Amino acid sequence: MKRISSRTVEEVNSKVDMVEIVGEYTRLEKRGGNWWGCCPFHNEKTPSFNIMPEKNLYHCFGCGVSGTVISFVMEMEKLSFTEAVESLARKNGIEVIYEGSGEIRKDEKKDNIRELLMDLYDRTAGMFHFFLTESKNGKEALDYIKGRSVDEETIKKFKLGFAPKNRNWLYGFLTSKGYSSEFLASSGLFSRKYPTLCVFAGRIIFPIADRKGRIVAFGGRILSGEGPKYINSGDLPQYKKGETLFGFNLALPEIRATKSVILCEGYMDVLAWHQAGICNAVAPLGTAFTPEQAKLAHSFAETAFLCFDTDTAGQKASYAAILLCRKTGMETRIVDIKGSGFADCKDPADILKNHGAEALKKVLEMSILDVDYLILNAGSSFDLGTPGGKAQACGYVFPYLEVIDSDVLMESVVSRISSAFGISGRALLSDFQKRNQPSNRREMTESNPPAGKRKIKPGAELRAMLAAASNMQFFPQVRNEISADDLEDPAAKDIFIILEECFRNDTVGFDAVLERCREDNLRSIIMQAYASGEFSENADKVITDSIKLIKKNVLEKKKAGLIARIRLAPVSDGSYGGHDVPDMMSQIREIDEKLKDLKDA
Ligand code: ZN
Repeated sequence: MKRISSRTVEEVNSKVDMVEIVGEYTRLEKRGGNWWGCCPFHNEKTPSFNIMPEKNLYHCFGCGVSGTVISFVMEMEKLSFTEAVESLARKNGIEVIYEGSGEIRKDEKKDNIRELLMDLYDRTAGMFHFFLTESKNGKEALDYIKGRSVDEETIKKFKLGFAPKNRNWLYGFLTSKGYSSEFLASSGLFSRKYPTLCVFAGRIIFPIADRKGRIVAFGGRILSGEGPKYINSGDLPQYKKGETLFGFNLALPEIRATKSVILCEGYMDVLAWHQAGICNAVAPLGTAFTPEQAKLAHSFAETAFLCFDTDTAGQKASYAAILLCRKTGMETRIVDIKGSGFADCKDPADILKNHGAEALKKVLEMSILDVDYLILNAGSSFDLGTPGGKAQACGYVFPYLEVIDSDVLMESVVSRISSAFGISGRALLSDFQKRNQPSNRREMTESNPPAGKRKIKPGAELRAMLAAASNMQFFPQVRNEISADDLEDPAAKDIFIILEECFRNDTVGFDAVLERCREDNLRSIIMQAYASGEFSENADKVITDSIKLIKKNVLEKKKAGLIARIRLAPVSDGSYGGHDVPDMMSQIREIDEKLKDLKDA
């Protein structure tokens, strides 16, 4: 097998500008004769990654990595030595000289497959794009996309495509071009069970590119008929979906220029922002936002704008994303589409379509700081008029305080939160610190368990959610009757939210439920319930009975709250905190009626 000559290696090491190469991954600043930046290999907020240009070497004082431009490219782009040298040489006009027949490297075969797969995806994307833009086959899809106000420039920019409805077509086309069935079976493009059927048939195709713009995977949206709304490529040798952001390659120039990134929900959102001329928008790929994606976004951005759904299911996702972004050190802001005043719009595409690009820019300007968003959420979820409600609200923001590691920021965050909750900053901080001491562990695990560590005790709520997770066809009934907020058991609540996400994405399989469940402990319980067949016959009854119990619980809690308030009410003017006693009494009567109905039903 070919081996690169040492002369070529030396030439690459001496001619290639390391500052330029590393600068594609992290922002560098010159101090003295050296360049400094935040290390691309480990998470940090203050630069300790150092480049010595004369020696063309890098060293990180944080994590200790060091090397040459070749080892840097190998590591960052997951390339073999040969590939890294070839790629650097190509870009810098250096002729590559090979020598001898050397040994066969073990990873040569693997590299080769990755290259071949990228070629395959590139070629297939080209065909799909042709079908969408040039062929009669793709007319319906094109009409649909244009109906969603995506213009031709955007279609071209994102190389959108259409996969023909004939599920055998792609297989026939590719084998006629000389691809073997063995290779195609490993490509992720075909059904595992029926290797000639393309998984993306009859779908609008959103090509997913790596940071260099090479197409490595696909997302496909159904056009009509049955099936999940979106299908996305799974992990492949050239693609890890948890480490990739849709649109990142196209967004990078603007992310660099503005030092900010917009993280949004899905493909169509990214298209809308870009079409409005706001080109720093990206999206995770059909999974929850991951730490790796946060790190990728942070490589050039100091500010993250989160533009996720802000309803109950979305709130949890937004909170998790806030924590991930803050952990990287990014300032984090929330863009609230539904609360932006455009009542007729549910996503960026709607705003672009109904009100134009300027309106979308305005929505971005109206973004609020993450801490203010959390304060608003706490205010609507807990009764800040009572000591108990205040304590709950504090528990809600504690995970956020945990990821703040600058004293200056902590001071301003604590002052904002404490004045909004009507408590002293000192009390907030002291409760927050106490929370991490052993004597308070128990309370903490109840209100805010650390992931993966909580004990799960099966009560009615959890049993109902497990039954629904094992039998997704019953979930529509569940969500008609109750919401996540009605559940007290945190594990049941989490499952509800997972099922709700699956429901909204039209992914109703049990696999989809597991995929969205990011907590090992919870996943194993769901799996156990499913595998044991515990709910295979009686799911209907378990769910109906539990819903009744849950509703009863909610009503009783509400009633207790009303009674507590009436007790506090000063008799003189018959009101307390804006609540009118006779009105509260009649609310209690209504609750009693409903409770009676539940009992009789
Ligand atoms: Zn480092």
